[in-house]
Amino acid sequence: MADMDKNIQSEAIETQAASNFIHNIIEKDLENQRYGDKVYTRFPPEPNGYLHIGHAKSICLNFSTAEKYGGQCNLRYDDTNPVKEDVEYVDSIEEDVKWLGWTWSKRLFASDYFDKMYDCAVTLIKKGKAYVCDLNAEQMKEYRGTLKEPGKESPYRNRTIEENLQLFEEMKAGKYADGEKVLRAKIDMASPNINMRDPVIYRTAHTSHHNTGDAWCIYPMYDYAHPIEDAIEGITHSICTLEFEDHRPLYDWVLSELDWPTPPQQIEFARLNLTNTVMSKRYLKALVDNGEVESWDDPRMPTIAGLRRRGYTPEAIRDFCDRIGVSKANSLVDIALLEHCIREDLKSKVQSRNVVENPIKIVITNYPEEQTEEVEVENNKEVPEMGNRMIPFSNELYVDGEDFMEVPEKKYFRLFPGNEVRFKGAYFIKCDEVIKNEDGTIKELHCTYDPETRSGSGFEGRKVKGTIHWVDAKTAVKIKIRQYGYLMIEDENGENIMNPESLVEIEAYAEPALAEAKPGERFQFFRHGYYIADTKLTTDRSKVFNRIVDLKSSWKK
Ligand code: ATP
Ligand code: MG
Repeated sequence: MADMDKNIQSEAIETQAASNFIHNIIEKDLENQRYGDKVYTRFPPEPNGYLHIGHAKSICLNFSTAEKYGGQCNLRYDDTNPVKEDVEYVDSIEEDVKWLGWTWSKRLFASDYFDKMYDCAVTLIKKGKAYVCDLNAEQMKEYRGTLKEPGKESPYRNRTIEENLQLFEEMKAGKYADGEKVLRAKIDMASPNINMRDPVIYRTAHTSHHNTGDAWCIYPMYDYAHPIEDAIEGITHSICTLEFEDHRPLYDWVLSELDWPTPPQQIEFARLNLTNTVMSKRYLKALVDNGEVESWDDPRMPTIAGLRRRGYTPEAIRDFCDRIGVSKANSLVDIALLEHCIREDLKSKVQSRNVVENPIKIVITNYPEEQTEEVEVENNKEVPEMGNRMIPFSNELYVDGEDFMEVPEKKYFRLFPGNEVRFKGAYFIKCDEVIKNEDGTIKELHCTYDPETRSGSGFEGRKVKGTIHWVDAKTAVKIKIRQYGYLMIEDENGENIMNPESLVEIEAYAEPALAEAKPGERFQFFRHGYYIADTKLTTDRSKVFNRIVDLKSSWKK
């Protein structure tokens, strides 16, 4: 915290419009009129958890692509697996997409297409392209083969169309237990692509569904359902992450066997990976379920809800998504870039307040004990239009623990015995004496002020090298600050572990105005960082602030 301004480095970073290979594909398609002038995308979350910053990349990509080409984008719940899905997640997803600032053309549920998907499966059976198989999971695995060896055909592969139609209908009617029978696509057990070795397209699950209740006991598999969902909605460009690249032949197979006219095309991009961050709903859910974090919106979580409560703005997240760009190559993005984006967004938006951590009491021995005066300080030194405010000053003040050293290091220009510094907005103040408690700890510092040196008085006398901030002890308000470390860190062996110090709560003294802080209000705490009054914990009487980010940028281009 040696410098007054830690933002210098970040200012040097220019915004760069990232190139986007997906836009190149779309422009070709428009040129060739592959889908006429239509560009239709979708964001298809499975409602089995809260959205995270990785999903934000996909959301921004899908919605901004549609916007760029005057097209449309649907929010579609990919809710074909009843086991893990929940209405709480449906609601949170909607809130998060809206909060990020996007508006969908339609909000749809894949489960609304279950009838249509069933009909399509019947069509495949009638074409001899799907069959009911009785192999159990273990046998199925054995028959599938490996990357080096082809698979073996199931003994049930050559059932007649009539038999398959009847068995499939019985599956639907609930005649079979979970795992007893599945419907498989009949493709090629010798295909070098394992996804094409007669993949399962329907399975039995006697489980209630959040949308369709108990209407169904068979459910379509993702690889079969997804292309049909896209096709029904008239999606043109179905954007997904790279791990689905090997599934694309199956996506195309389904729509081609169903003779879908102008089928959508799947395009894969690299998912977002961030340093110090785990991005898997399954893992994040375990953190919540095991009580390692408070909730899905714990400010340490990489969920959109967690980032929102932490104090991130939609603008910062969208800026981040723009800057990381879209590519075909997996990479790891430095979380410092995300932090850089929120600093950039807040630096000209929020007002500054004086807050003192690890307070040291100052007694100004030559200042009248009964007197209090108001001094003027800037609300935001980068934005003069944000004006000034008055804060009280008296003979008793607090300064930050970091701003005093009894035995100063080299180049330490803040307070130490015999040294004079400027108290921001007020006077030159000199430390005369350190008063100790019996146990040797510091009780208070006795200082003197120079009345001539009042800020704004035009004083042109001697210079001081350090300026520090302070709060008036008689009117200070106590606040709580929650400082967050990364949730995940590496141990000595390079393993990712949960950071035992990811949350540190401290008390601090603030200038009186912070007693009025409203939940969700953001500030810069002068020389410390950006903070938000926590939306869940802040009340009229108790002020709890989340540290959004400190001022120092470790982001290097
Ligand atoms: P997770 O693995 O975290 O559970 P998921 O891929 O199973 O995520 P979905 O709900 O299926 O979650 O994802 C919805 C969309 O978001 C998909 O198109 C998916 O490819 C995309 N997505 C998920 N994670 C990322 C990520 N880290 N970066 C970019 N896009 C992502
Ligand atoms: Mg998924």
